[in-house]
This record gives sequence, structure tokens and C-alpha cells, in this order.
Amino acid sequence: MSAIQKKLEAASEQYAASFDKGHLILPPAKKYLVVTCMDARIDPAAAFGIELGDAHVVRNAGGSAIEAIRSIVISQQLLGTTEVLVVKHTDCGMLTFKNRDAYSRVREHLGPPAHAELTARSFDFLPFPELDEAVADDVEFLRDSRLVPEHVTISGWVYDVKSGKTRRVPDRPRV
Ligand SMILES: [Zn+2]
Repeated sequence: MSAIQKKLEAASEQYAASFDKGHLILPPAKKYLVVTCMDARIDPAAAFGIELGDAHVVRNAGGSAIEAIRSIVISQQLLGTTEVLVVKHTDCGMLTFKNRDAYSRVREHLGPPAHAELTARSFDFLPFPELDEAVADDVEFLRDSRLVPEHVTISGWVYDVKSGKTRRVPDRPRV
């Protein structure tokens, strides 16, 4: 067993010993969903005040709403959530490369067939050059998507990995 696997087992033992939340129901009690980055420095529950059972948290590289759309539709249509918060963060890895860089890295490390697969799929790693713009783009994407009903409340945020603070990104005027 790997050291990480042992760590999971030990943590599980300790967690379950005092666990008393087995009564929670499947749909999120506070009916909201947070999309955020997979960055290891973000603790969504602590930083955004999410209690167990309250919300869905979807994490991926960059906190992409486009990548999260499958989960967002399931969350809203099958489990009744009615609000989305998109939270990206300072010092995000997605600010540091472009698609062509990721494509070259794949070719170099995984070989031409892997690179060809990316090309065949027109694969987009969804990097972004500017943080607030990327948040506003994702909010706009969700507002414009036919997969997200009009009544859903959508907002965009930036978490600062240095201070631990999260600030609101102003909404773009709707056209
Ligand atoms: Zn990130």
C-alpha cells in the first residue's frame, strides 16, 4: 500500500469514529453549487463557509464552468440547486500556459499519437490570460447557456491564495 493510501485509511478511521452526519439527505440543503479550481491551496468548505450537506462543489483545473456544465445540469435538474458561484483564484496555473504549450508538452512526454488525439478532438485545455476576465467569461457563459434556467442566481469571485480572502468580481453589464 502506498503512503498516501495508508494516510487515507488512518484519516478514515479517525473521521468515522466521531462521524454524526449520516442523516444528511442527498440534495444540497442550501441549494447551491460552487465551481472552483482543483488547486491544492483552496479549502472550499473553510474558505467559503460550506457546511457538510449544504452545497455541491465542482473542482477542476481553473474552476472552469464550461468543463463543469455536466455537473451543473445534474445539480440543477436532478438535485434542485438554484444558485452557482464561480470562484477562480490568484496564482492559478491556468494563467501560466497556452493551449499550444500544453499540446507541445503532451507531444514531448506522451508521444505523437497522444498529440494527434488532442488535435483530432480540437482539445481545449481552457487556459486563461487574465483572471477577472476569465471569471466574467464563465459567468456570462452560464447566463447565456440554454442549459441554465433564467431564475438561477450566478456570481463570480476570486480567491486570493496569499490572504485567504475571496472578493466579488463585478458583473458585466448585460447586452
Ligand atoms: Zn487554479
